[in-house]
Amino acid sequence: MKSGLQGLCDWRCSRRTFIQSSAGALALLSLPVRPAPAQAQEIQYGFMKPHPAAFYRRLEKGLVQCQLCPRNCEVLPGERGECGVRENRQGKYYSLVYGNPCAVHLDPIEKKPFFHILPGSLSFSIATAGCNLHCKFCQNWEISQTRPDKTYNYDLPPEKVVADARDNQCPSIAHTYVEPIIFYEYLRDVSRLARPAGILNVCHSAGYINPQPLKELAGLLDAACIDLKAFDNKFYRDLVDGELQPVLNTLKTLRRHKVHLEIVNLLIPQFNDQPEKITAMCAWIRDELGPLTPLHFSRFYPLYKMLNHHPTPVSSLERARDLAMQAGLKYVYIGNLPAHAAENTYCHHCGKMIIARQGYQIGAVHLKNGHCTFCGTAIPGIWKRPQAA
Ligand code: SF4
Repeated sequence: MKSGLQGLCDWRCSRRTFIQSSAGALALLSLPVRPAPAQAQEIQYGFMKPHPAAFYRRLEKGLVQCQLCPRNCEVLPGERGECGVRENRQGKYYSLVYGNPCAVHLDPIEKKPFFHILPGSLSFSIATAGCNLHCKFCQNWEISQTRPDKTYNYDLPPEKVVADARDNQCPSIAHTYVEPIIFYEYLRDVSRLARPAGILNVCHSAGYINPQPLKELAGLLDAACIDLKAFDNKFYRDLVDGELQPVLNTLKTLRRHKVHLEIVNLLIPQFNDQPEKITAMCAWIRDELGPLTPLHFSRFYPLYKMLNHHPTPVSSLERARDLAMQAGLKYVYIGNLPAHAAENTYCHHCGKMIIARQGYQIGAVHLKNGHCTFCGTAIPGIWKRPQAA
């Protein structure tokens, strides 16, 4: 089997002193907030450069209302919104996470997870501190549930992100690890520069965003991997501190704008693994987004505030996949469970294996110009590296 990660040993890394490869790590590992000492010179604890925020309105008495996500926080002067990264300074609203990510990694694209984009390629992956949701099972809570004044941050403006992605031969930039919506202005400006440089813009998001900012972002994104955490509003309220409907709206909008979509459902025993809920979710995906939408059932491991719960049994993941296939979905994967046969991609027409995977390693790929080499069927996804303008 040819390893798609082999190249990690010898890739050109002009900023090797600070870019960390997490290629060997499982997706479930938390990201380090504290960098290794050798990297310390290029980062700074609490480094922030406030940048004017988009999508807010001014109210009376110096209040502002953020209109970026469905929380629509009303923020007093000197205070921040719920995500902890947007601040009211004398009636004007600022992002505190523009150009100062606390996580910068070179990741396999499969780690996002995107299984239908350039298999085996590296994605230049960034995240800032903060999040607009509070999932009790968060994998990256050390950076998502804190503020940028409490993390070690890089000074990495959009043009440097794009230059570093290009220098490291990454065909994509991923906005990931936390909810990238909270660093909207940064994401937007990186994306604007990446396109002409021939680099894909991708994000992994919970989809918790208001319609207008989403509409503007959709025109800049090539692909989105959206967490559909459950098909149950009670789950969203109890475990996520959010609502389901805005996420469903986001999925439909992204599909309408022809953004390549993949969906992740973290299967947590006794919370969202009821067969009827899984079937209902898959029927909704089939009807609203199409049967070729890739769906990843991801294995839960005890983390953050859910340390007393068991990992998802393999049989539950396999049952969920069976239910999804019975509902008519064609590309259903099992994740966080390396070496399972459901990590591979099988052509939806002839059923032959067209991409072999083991964890983040890629084996044989039977695709030619995005078509199955066995039967010639077009496979949904992004299979060609973009060209610079
Ligand atoms: S993005 Fe942050 S400040 Fe704005 S509404 Fe959402 S949680 Fe509140």
